Amino acid sequence: RPPHSRVEDDAAVEKRYAIGQELGRGSFGIVREVTSRFTGELLAVKTVNKDKPGSTSIQMLTREVEVLKRLDHPHIIKLEDILETPQKMYLVMELCTGGELTARLKQLGYFRESEAKEVMRQLTEVLTYLHSNDIVHRDLKLENVLLKSPINSATDKIDIRVTDFGLAHMKSLSDLEDPIMDERCGTPYYMAPEVILSRHEYTKMCDVWSLGVIMYYIICGKVPFHGDANLKLEECIVHGEPTFKEVEWINISEQG
Ligand code: ADP
Repeated sequence: RPPHSRVEDDAAVEKRYAIGQELGRGSFGIVREVTSRFTGELLAVKTVNKDKPGSTSIQMLTREVEVLKRLDHPHIIKLEDILETPQKMYLVMELCTGGELTARLKQLGYFRESEAKEVMRQLTEVLTYLHSNDIVHRDLKLENVLLKSPINSATDKIDIRVTDFGLAHMKSLSDLEDPIMDERCGTPYYMAPEVILSRHEYTKMCDVWSLGVIMYYIICGKVPFHGDANLKLEECIVHGEPTFKEVEWINISEQG
């Protein structure tokens, strides 16, 4: 398990890590590249302000930390170190130099068949691992999948990392404050019909539905259910009618 230390201030953090360029901004904090001053290793750090104790961001970060600490899988982002100052929480993770998988979709419009197969194989392995450990991710979406390194177009080698465990549910952590269970969790496009229809507990099967949405998305370049308003989207999902019936299957046949 990664160490979890309380340190005095930001200066103490910078004694351990040299802070580099910004990699992205999430809903709650900034992610930056860092270099360990001890090992010289390049890593990523997510920083969240603790200014509002009990806020959703802190609850989600706490959940993410507690779940990630317990996970060990080649395609799940590895948490290396946790540092806390009285004001901030720093999550040091492995660095994914390939960036977001969605960037590939924006660039190509869809994935090549070999890439799509590989992404699906790795995602299925992650889900099998999580579910066999009684963990439900609850926010599985393409936007939460990063590439460990850029895709090499000569070899088509793909190595993904699943991130964002801020909504994940783990039986052994059931005493953790759960800000989400009384709200619908997840992202509308990836939401299973049973989650829309009832407020029943989000189950493993809902993760499987989200995996199906990801598969459709990477093969067709579009999510299966769409709607300008949430209500219309929910209606499409519940009635099982994909919004885009005229999918450009040519994309797939072109590649054999
Ligand atoms: P969100 O809260 O929106 O889910 P995060 O805070 O986890 O997003 O991350 C924000 C962005 O930072 C990501 O979209 C990604 O581009 C980048 N990022 C996050 N983690 C890493 C990492 N380990 N390596 C490289 N980039 C990362």
